[in-house]
Amino acid sequence: MSCGVPQGSVLGPLLWNIGYDWVLRGAFLDGVAVVCYADDTLVTARGKTHHEATLRATAGVAQVVERIRRLGLEVALHKSEALFFHGLRRKPPEGSSLTVGGIRIGIEPSIRYLGLVLDGRWDFGYHFRGLVPKLVGAARALARLLPNMKGPDDSCRGLYSGVVRSMALYGCPVWAGALKASNVAILRRPQRMLAIRIIRGYRTISFEAASLLAGTPPWDLEARALAALYQWRKEAQELGRCPEIREIDDRKSQLRQVIIGEWRERLGQPSAGHAVIAAVRPVMEDWLERRHGTLSYRLTQVITGKGCFGDHLCLIRKEPTPECHHCDGQTVDTALHTLAECPAWVEQRRDLVAAIGVGVLSLDSLIAAIVRSESAWNSAVSFCEQVMLPQKQAGVAASALRSALASREHREHGVPTRGGGRLLVCR
Ligand SMILES: [Zn+2]
Repeated sequence: MSCGVPQGSVLGPLLWNIGYDWVLRGAFLDGVAVVCYADDTLVTARGKTHHEATLRATAGVAQVVERIRRLGLEVALHKSEALFFHGLRRKPPEGSSLTVGGIRIGIEPSIRYLGLVLDGRWDFGYHFRGLVPKLVGAARALARLLPNMKGPDDSCRGLYSGVVRSMALYGCPVWAGALKASNVAILRRPQRMLAIRIIRGYRTISFEAASLLAGTPPWDLEARALAALYQWRKEAQELGRCPEIREIDDRKSQLRQVIIGEWRERLGQPSAGHAVIAAVRPVMEDWLERRHGTLSYRLTQVITGKGCFGDHLCLIRKEPTPECHHCDGQTVDTALHTLAECPAWVEQRRDLVAAIGVGVLSLDSLIAAIVRSESAWNSAVSFCEQVMLPQKQAGVAASALRSALASREHREHGVPTRGGGRLLVCR
């Protein structure tokens, strides 16, 4: 080799592969292997004891470094990292290291390799802990671009969600088999934030309800499915087969069915969002595969029960009581009350029932109807728009009245007001 080529040139990777192939093809010591991606070289060494593995690793690294030198290249040994894979009770001794070319390479608890943080116990705890701030930061930044009212449409919301999903699932064929509960919990947080933005919902909606309504399967299930797909393709290649695109699509469909089956099983025992899940789960496949229907801000409020309803507002301390502003003061205002019972919306309800063709209006019957037909979906959206805006205005008026009365009482009797001045904010 007498000269180099500019970085990023067309021939660069090919010439590199031809030149570097020599480093990889030579014989290595027993128990030593070399893995390489571009110029990132990984030497692995096995041993029954820590000492034996260290000796082999030292010899293996020295051999690889010498071969690279003979290519006319220098290895930055001070940038090298070492890691000891071990079982629960076989930690490396404190301060252990290996020395190559006079440079000491300390054995660390974790190393970064091709974007993954590997650790000695292969449980990816370091990887997921490092991933949290990145995923949450990206989810938060994207969520700011997706307001509940107006903003981008569903396809754009799905696209933004896919960006963070890709970040989360990077390298999943490597780590999917080692997923543990704490790492699954880490994946849930950003997924929930994005699912809530997709459905234009309130921040208090549970992970299970939000992801079901958004149609985004839990990322840990997706990670396992992607790992299974990778394994299937790898086995086919080892047998000398190259699966056709149609075959790959069939395999993806099968794995999707597996994901949905496991997801449905999990939703059988939800930790929250019981009413939504009970209504959507029986028609889950139809819900996920439907080609119509966007969840509007107000339709989501009616479905999730999180919105301008007395019980929800009282729970989050924005209303002193859960009573309905349109009824006699004895009735608790819930999403179901607004949808099926409140006398203030009789006309709108009659139109809705006629349009979606259900006998008894409930969350279950509403979901079953709107998932089947686009016109029923549009009628439900229209009902929610007609009902929820006056509902919100009634709440604002009641809050303003309470505030005025409390102020007058304070002026006349010197009674301090207690939170009576807060206005109802529904966005
Ligand atoms: Zn009412």
